[in-house]
Amino acid sequence: MQIAQVIVDVPTRQTNEPYSYEIPANFDGQVQPGMRVQVPFGPRKVTGFIVGLTDHSDFDGKLKKISGLVDLSPVITPELLKLSEWLAGQTFSFKISCLQTMLPGGMRTKFKKKLLTDNQTKAAYPEIFHGENEINYDQQKFDNQTIGKILTLRKADKIKVHYELSNHSKPMLVKAFQSKLTPTQIDEALATISKRFVSQSRLLQILKDQRDLPLQQAWLSKKGVTSTTLETAVKRGWVDETRVRRIRNPFLQPVKKSYPLALNDDQQSAVDRINRAIENQANTTFLLEGVTGSGKTEVYLQAMAHALKTGKTALMLVPEITLTPQIVGRIRSRFGDQVAMLHSAMSSGERYDEWQRINDGQAKVVVGVRSAIFAPLENIGLIIMDEEHDSSYKQTETPRYQTRDVAKWRAAYNHCPVVLGSATPSLESRARAMKGVYELILLPHRFNNHALPHVSIVDMKDEMARSRNILSKKLADLVDDRLAKHEQIILLLNRRGYSSFIMCRDCGYVPQCPNCDISLTMHKDTHTLNCHLCGHKEPIPVVCPKCHSKRIRHYGIGSQQLEEQVKEMFPKARVLRMDVDTTRKKGSHEAIINKFGAHQADILLGTQMIAKGLDFPEVTLVGVLNADSALQFPDFRSSERTFQLLTQVSGRSGRADKQGEVVIQTFNPDHYAIQLAKTQDYEKFYQTEMQIRHIGKYPPYYFTVKITGSSPSEKQTAYEMHQIAHFLRRYLTNQAIILGPTPKTIKRINNRYFYQIIIKYRQEPHLKDVLDKILTTSQTKERKGLLISIDNEPLDFM
Ligand code: ADP
Ligand code: ZN
Ligand code: ZN
Repeated sequence: MQIAQVIVDVPTRQTNEPYSYEIPANFDGQVQPGMRVQVPFGPRKVTGFIVGLTDHSDFDGKLKKISGLVDLSPVITPELLKLSEWLAGQTFSFKISCLQTMLPGGMRTKFKKKLLTDNQTKAAYPEIFHGENEINYDQQKFDNQTIGKILTLRKADKIKVHYELSNHSKPMLVKAFQSKLTPTQIDEALATISKRFVSQSRLLQILKDQRDLPLQQAWLSKKGVTSTTLETAVKRGWVDETRVRRIRNPFLQPVKKSYPLALNDDQQSAVDRINRAIENQANTTFLLEGVTGSGKTEVYLQAMAHALKTGKTALMLVPEITLTPQIVGRIRSRFGDQVAMLHSAMSSGERYDEWQRINDGQAKVVVGVRSAIFAPLENIGLIIMDEEHDSSYKQTETPRYQTRDVAKWRAAYNHCPVVLGSATPSLESRARAMKGVYELILLPHRFNNHALPHVSIVDMKDEMARSRNILSKKLADLVDDRLAKHEQIILLLNRRGYSSFIMCRDCGYVPQCPNCDISLTMHKDTHTLNCHLCGHKEPIPVVCPKCHSKRIRHYGIGSQQLEEQVKEMFPKARVLRMDVDTTRKKGSHEAIINKFGAHQADILLGTQMIAKGLDFPEVTLVGVLNADSALQFPDFRSSERTFQLLTQVSGRSGRADKQGEVVIQTFNPDHYAIQLAKTQDYEKFYQTEMQIRHIGKYPPYYFTVKITGSSPSEKQTAYEMHQIAHFLRRYLTNQAIILGPTPKTIKRINNRYFYQIIIKYRQEPHLKDVLDKILTTSQTKERKGLLISIDNEPLDFM
């Protein structure tokens, strides 16, 4: 008897122990780890992942049987199965959530499955296909014997499976042809047909190289194979006609092919070191620290090309890819159709198609955001993380993983190097490089020795005494100057911790969200006050609800108002705005960037989105309107974030031949993060910040864990969190520092009360056991309404 070990998905009854289920005889030998199944669990049926197969079980009762197959082939590769185990341990989460995180969104939600087949199989199995090339796969409708047959056909590649979102438009099915010949048969056929049949010999040549996959007719006809030839080929038994789903193309526009550039010495030595590690299958982690504009991208591209040359694949991660269409364009122009792309602005269908291309081994280069680290890519030769310090690499929901750690795990598994690239590395990574855990590669100069931009700081306290204008005199003068010279300008409005709100001028009343402890944000476009935590909306009051005064005023500035002001100040300037509102529609982000790149606008203004990765040679002025709005956060990383942001955005200026200039407006001109951003001295910043972290016992000197608990009752939350703190104090050694429980900075969100505990430690032998215990008991607490989450190495303590 074959037994499957299944990790089941049962809310509030989760466990990391697999359950054993008997595999029905018809599925014998066909069921594999990495497939999803349906199994009986108590009175209901639940889904689960097969994580292992065995022929004996310690369970002495009668085993229940698997009741259905969700997948007909594995959706989780053996590597990713192993990774899920490690990930669960690393993030103190349940395996089921790790496995689900690895699948593309479309496959997690509701989907239908289609079985596609060729004419021969259709004719041979009328009881399955009823004369159709395409049928729905509904596990309830087929008996085990039929499913057994389907599995066998699937394995023999006679059936293709396609996932389809139920609410999704019909997939495009197109005619395709699958080779039936062996290489020798092809050679024989080639030798016998007359040279005059150009189209036929062309087809045979193509079949020689492409035997595994059905070839689309449209593609074949582009290669000069006529439809008459294809009819003949079917009659002669060279190919089978079938239908395949046309792959949705996530790339909006075709790109021109580009070729490797000649490297400067620094780039060359970086590429050499990485290439050597690829060849030696060395699991080295490189920290590529290169100032903005030093040409890191070209280093990535040439190292990736080398990985492909050695027969391997390459994985490259970027922060929120939609924000950097430029870099995607550069990668595509180098690697063409071998590139698969995975990011959040793609539709579920597009993402599924790309995932499928990777799973089928068609894509050799994967570029994507955080979740792309779980791409089912095999035989990886190089992993790159661009802007490794970026906070989007940390997942903020269960499992709360740090992409860097997952990248290092996969690199170790694949015996390949990892390259972490940044102009402003995270302190964690830089500290590791200093200790020799990572190898440091420096690109200290801009490409072509272009100068770094000149940065000046404007004290807004002085400025505000003179005028209420959001642009200081200095910045406004420089904008005028650039407009006159026909050069381009970027203006950044730092949105973090910054919003517009309303306040009564007579009594100081500020409207609060009824469900959360936070003031409401004013949205001019919808004429509402919104809560950005729970989504609550209400009309903007005309009379103060507290003192009935009519003097309700609006404070703070949004990018929309900034746009209005800028247009008023510079009536001749062509202005583009990029923020969440102007980029909601698909492709709009790219459109704005292309327009600015084509110099169809003079000023690009926007939020954090415009700070990263953009490379426009005509930009010679960058203005940061409110540099310090993040500094007042009670967060040990605020300085680091501010320094990184200012360095990033300054780096957009003066990237080509013209000298760039940057104006930073701030109320805290003396803050070290701002002062050091002025001199763009990462080294000094690193030293200063490390001292502060040392004194405060913060990362990277200490490891940290954050435990958060929430429930609808503050009393219950506080009580349970005290219990947990008590448990921690009892079982951890006295080297561990346990802070709290304390209410979170925003205590109430959506009528739930949040408390947290912070653990800081350098070495804590019992930590894993203790946290695993908390994770296990969290399920009992969840049934009582208390949600517990554990965040290993949280980004903040808020
Ligand atoms: P970074 O990512 O380090 O900020 P980029 O990779 O965007 O820098 O490079 C900065 C600029 O220098 C880009 O315009 C890029 O095209 C150019 N560049 C980089 N390397 C080379 C090279 N080897 N030859 C020619 N141009 C290069
Ligand atoms: Zn009032
Ligand atoms: Zn709210």
